[in-house]
Amino acid sequence: LPIERAGRLSELAFIERLRALPGGDRDVELGIGDDCAIVRAGGRRLLLTTDALVEDVHFRWRWDGPAGIGRRAFAVNASDIAAMGGTPRFALLSLVAPKRVATSELSRLVRGFAAAARASGCALVGGNLSSGARWMISVTLVGEPCGMPLRRSGARAGDLVYVSGQLGAAALAREILLGRRRGRASETAAFLRPTARLELGAALARARAATAAIDVSDGLLQDLGHLCRASGVGAVVEAERLPYASVLRRLPRRERLELALNGGEDYELIFTVRGQRAERIPSLPRVPVTAIGRIVPGSGLRVRAASGEALPVEVRGFDHFRR
Ligand SMILES: [Mg+2]
Repeated sequence: LPIERAGRLSELAFIERLRALPGGDRDVELGIGDDCAIVRAGGRRLLLTTDALVEDVHFRWRWDGPAGIGRRAFAVNASDIAAMGGTPRFALLSLVAPKRVATSELSRLVRGFAAAARASGCALVGGNLSSGARWMISVTLVGEPCGMPLRRSGARAGDLVYVSGQLGAAALAREILLGRRRGRASETAAFLRPTARLELGAALARARAATAAIDVSDGLLQDLGHLCRASGVGAVVEAERLPYASVLRRLPRRERLELALNGGEDYELIFTVRGQRAERIPSLPRVPVTAIGRIVPGSGLRVRAASGEALPVEVRGFDHFRR
């Protein structure tokens, strides 16, 4: 996608700067730098998250109908609540829409969003509408933790690394939508219709099964890298164990690996588990989880072939400000 070359800063470096801002409210349990903030209000923990989808950066308007775009906007935000082991409860939707847009389209987008939210037990309670050069769909969610919230920072050397579902189908779908690859229309659903892993995140938090978690938005390696940095550890990923999406079967191994590791937009959960707690991992119908590697002391990520040989893989997930 044509990314705005907005500055010299990397997205990660910018977030690091924000983390240094003075905080100092005793009801902020966890501030900037995880999938959600954890705050206390009225004696209860709340999860807060916000994210924006920008036309021609994250999606193209003609890729889907307005209702589908609304549903997707909810799902990609709810994924951050899932990564904390929470359930979304209240949503705010702030829209920037081009002046050419018909009221009926706007209304279909909002209805699609609200219906997806409702299906997950979340109420749309407000928002804002403005005109602008292109679409921006900005979502703020308030969630409730289902047990102890899952953070990025709890992984320790020796923990097993798991990922839910399958990897790479959404990245392949995006390439089909962009016209860079051939594919069937049905193969674009992995990008257009992501599912937030709310049931799994909640079950992991309830079972106290996971030591750390994050969702896969930017790419498996990049997001696992965030988890490792927050935990002060490294990780080894076994390439042969990755749950490649079946649509990737027709591709050469190298491309399959690239899409699964660096593609992004899968909205699956990466989580880490102490070896002896593996039996606590909840088994949910239709939500497979796969052990893909192990947390190791030190820092950095390595990807290993079945032979044990290290594969030269670059971490190349999505960074808005990369040149
Ligand atoms: Mg996230």
